[in-house]
Amino acid sequence: ERIISGEADIQDLSFEQSLRPQTLRQYIGQDKVKENLEVFIKAAKLREETLDHVLLYGPPGLGKTTLATIIANEMGVNIRTTAGPAIERPGDLAAILTALEPGDVLFIDEIHRLPRSIEEVLYPAMEDFCLDIVIGKGPTARSVRLDLPPFTLVGATTRAGSLSAPLRDRFGVLSRLEYYNEEQLREIVMRTSELFETEINPQAAGEIAKRSRGTPRIANRLLRRVRDFAQVKGNGAIDFELAEESLELLQVDRLGLDHIDHKLLRGIIEKFRGGPVGLETIAATIGEEAHTIEDVYEPYLLQIGFLQRTPRGRIVTDLVYRHFKMEVPAD
Ligand code: ADP
Repeated sequence: ERIISGEADIQDLSFEQSLRPQTLRQYIGQDKVKENLEVFIKAAKLREETLDHVLLYGPPGLGKTTLATIIANEMGVNIRTTAGPAIERPGDLAAILTALEPGDVLFIDEIHRLPRSIEEVLYPAMEDFCLDIVIGKGPTARSVRLDLPPFTLVGATTRAGSLSAPLRDRFGVLSRLEYYNEEQLREIVMRTSELFETEINPQAAGEIAKRSRGTPRIANRLLRRVRDFAQVKGNGAIDFELAEESLELLQVDRLGLDHIDHKLLRGIIEKFRGGPVGLETIAATIGEEAHTIEDVYEPYLLQIGFLQRTPRGRIVTDLVYRHFKMEVPAD
């Protein structure tokens, strides 16, 4: 497990529930998304209607699940949570949908992993709040229409592109979550420290923020680890030196890169003179799957401008040479 992975690990899950902001006001950053949702939520409440279906997309750990919970809170309804891979048969979905109370939020995480057969059951449910169920088999089979309570589907996905067009089209609100900037992450670290009742100075919080790859989940995880160091090696309070020292020990560098990022970038520099080099070739050289590189390692490196995708393959930019204190090649 990489400490700088945006995916939740078991430890994260045990902490995250208590760290989640409960209202839009407490939710830091993502201003555009918040502004839109605020308007839609107010309008739905004024009309006494359910909120339109919402699709949240963006990399893991940016706050999609949190936002789904907040939507339910702000609407004053319950939230029922499930995930794409957990719904295997139409009956699974029917059981969930028929148990909803009017107005409830149904949150489906990893919605791009819903089987196609389930998607088709979902369409009339989203559009007309009804289910078409086939009873029996063969020549005696017949279809029965079941009415459902009106509900809001909140779907979350890391890959909006892998969602089928008919499913995507049935969402009234599409919101893309962006990586957080340093200041926003610093605020999140300060807020979490307060919830942990851990003393931290703003400069130390800033250092954790810098190394969190734009991702609140990583910021909270790094804070937890640094807090351990503070308790064992210091008096429990986190100052700048302690934060810096512990992050070095955790092998997370100034930009939040770890040994795998280093291996990838140095591999391209040392074996391919900085590129361009094809994804498959990189994968074979560093012993990783091409799709893992593409889905997990690359997005942040592209985001910070360390890697570029060109038609002839990946190239590392001058920023990488400077980061590694290497001479930038003349060409
Ligand atoms: P996702 O569903 O996108 O993977 P989560 O909603 O589970 O991400 O968020 C991961 C953690 O990050 C949550 O426990 C929450 O405490 C924190 N977090 C996410 N977004 C914010 C935010 N805008 N403000 C404060 N904390 C946040």
